[in-house]
Amino acid sequence: EARQLATLRDLPAVTRDQHRITLQANIELPRESDQAIAAGAEGVGLLRTEFLYMNREDLPGEEEQYQAIRQILETMKGHPVTVRTLDVGGEKLAWSLGNQLGESVNPALGLRAIRLSLKQRDLLDTQLAAMLRAARHGPVRILLPMVSSTNEMREARKALHEVARELVRRGEQVPDPLPPLGAMIEVPGAALSADALAGVSDFFAIGTNDLTMYTLAIDRGEERVAHLYNPLHPAVLRLIQFAVEAALRAGIPVSVCGEMAGDPRYTPLFLGLGVRDLSMSSASLPRVKQRVRQLEMRAASHRAMAIMDQHDTGRIAALLDDFAG
Ligand code: PEP
Ligand code: MG
Repeated sequence: EARQLATLRDLPAVTRDQHRITLQANIELPRESDQAIAAGAEGVGLLRTEFLYMNREDLPGEEEQYQAIRQILETMKGHPVTVRTLDVGGEKLAWSLGNQLGESVNPALGLRAIRLSLKQRDLLDTQLAAMLRAARHGPVRILLPMVSSTNEMREARKALHEVARELVRRGEQVPDPLPPLGAMIEVPGAALSADALAGVSDFFAIGTNDLTMYTLAIDRGEERVAHLYNPLHPAVLRLIQFAVEAALRAGIPVSVCGEMAGDPRYTPLFLGLGVRDLSMSSASLPRVKQRVRQLEMRAASHRAMAIMDQHDTGRIAALLDDFAG
């Protein structure tokens, strides 16, 4: 079986009826980019930059962040790398920010992710400068976490232009056009306004982990309610469908990068909904590729439609488990 999965690495992620799917890796640490290549990933769909801020007292500067991103781009050999700006707050702590995060009564709903980056512009500007400089070494895409409004996208884009201008003044090379700027769709309000967000975003990355948590109001870390956390809840699936359709209508790329993307059980559902890009941990990639190669798109689309008509999560799970391809 291990050998079979290894040979899969060099085969394309293509359905039986020749629909090409792009499978990318989620990365939390720079050294994981070697595993991504070994697993056959066609790029990094989600580079979480929190590692740069962990286990230290000071903040990482532009040069350090540039070098880290550059190293990953070089390992990925010309494949795109989607770099996400800092996503701390809530359950995600960054030591180097210490008490700057402050105390939130309800951290999941507090000052975090893009909200923090826009409030503390030096954090955002440093990261954007590092990403723009790194873009010389390979295709970079810039992703913003926890976006909840079009204003946040506009503000971040303005910041990106300002940082680019400043870099040019410093004599740095800046890509023209600037890298694509995308929104994570992981807050229910973002999914519900995906048509508006698509107008101000260059791409979407759907984060099913937070989307499930916020839609169902379930913290997986809270033992007494964890059993209620179910990404197959029809509310979650409808939000995913709405966001995918908004992206397709607007003609912008859309990927799924939450835990669901790495579970081969869900692959026919995503393909059937129109998703062509999935990003997951490298360890999950071969099995998802194997699943893609067993599927027929038409059958997957029919099954996805049948699933979207259901309200019972047990029935939805059964429709996925019974689906041969
Ligand atoms: C998500 O929320 O689904 C996601 C991909 O982001 P993270 O897991 O880093 O919160
Ligand atoms: Mg998230």
